[in-house]
Amino acid sequence: MMVRTVAVALVFVAAALMAVDEPVAFEWAAMGTTMRLLVRGGGAREAGEAMFAAARAAVEAVEAETSAFRPDGAVCRVSAAAGSGEWIATGPAFDAALDAALDVAAKTGGAFNPLVAPLLAARGFGRGSVSRPSDDAALRDLSAVERRPGACRLARSGMALDLGGVAKGLGADLAAAAARAAATNEFLLDAGGNLVGRGAWSVGVRDPRGAADALPLRVFPLPGGTAVSTSGNYERRAVAPDGTAAGHVFDPRTGLPVGGDVLQATAVAPSAVLADAWSTALFVLGPERGRAALSGENVAALWVLAAPDSSLRFETGP
Ligand code: ADP
Ligand code: MG
Repeated sequence: MMVRTVAVALVFVAAALMAVDEPVAFEWAAMGTTMRLLVRGGGAREAGEAMFAAARAAVEAVEAETSAFRPDGAVCRVSAAAGSGEWIATGPAFDAALDAALDVAAKTGGAFNPLVAPLLAARGFGRGSVSRPSDDAALRDLSAVERRPGACRLARSGMALDLGGVAKGLGADLAAAAARAAATNEFLLDAGGNLVGRGAWSVGVRDPRGAADALPLRVFPLPGGTAVSTSGNYERRAVAPDGTAAGHVFDPRTGLPVGGDVLQATAVAPSAVLADAWSTALFVLGPERGRAALSGENVAALWVLAAPDSSLRFETGP
């Protein structure tokens, strides 16, 4: 079983001629992906160093609590205690990630579901939070997630949390907040395809079938304080020994990987954590059911679909 990262779906698009105010770029590895910080304006190099240090620390704090691969983190401790009745103390990043996950889960009829960990593990996507891989739908019953301020427990043994659909978005939000406090320059933070910044930036949606350096399919302005995220199955694929490939986003109702003609979903939202959760949910739902879920939400969507003649088709929401 091999998991490889092919590409992030959202790219910063530089203006054609931009020699004067070209942003300074910082890059680091975290949360199983690449994080990028672009800083522009006067003194961008020095300001960027301070922003980079602050952003990196903020991301690490989120990863420590929300990773399914950190045994000491809340995700693994809550999962290990599932069914025991014990309340597990949680931190602010875990609480914020789970709040967003449960909010979007409720608004999408469970298309987004932070209890998919046993299912993913059963399909070959190992999760450190899972002791028994299983596709049993009862282990994805959201009413079994019990909360108290600063504490959480899962009612049923065998349940396990997976905050992989929201953690990078939360990391982007908190890294952006840290960068804002560190210097006054305009910046764009990209946490593995979850983008948020200060000042207006142009962002592009990548062709889900194309090479990482191919021209973006769509370019649009991202106003400061607005966030965008893309979810698609081409980014990570588990390749089974028999050669079959499956994506890492699953439909919690069917237990099957999202497939069919929906190739990716992009969500624009007031925060990166919401954009992250919604992009995953909208990828699961597809345009028709996705648009229904979006009614009354401050979230805009773009789906990229495969047309029968193997060209691409676009749908927007709400
Ligand atoms: P990426 O991690 O490639 O940016 P997503 O934001 O869509 O993509 O998150 C995918 C991750 O979300 C998976 O790796 C898994 O941890 C988790 N996940 C998969 N399916 C679901 C689902 N239906 N609801 C919530 N989380 C999911
Ligand atoms: Mg997501």
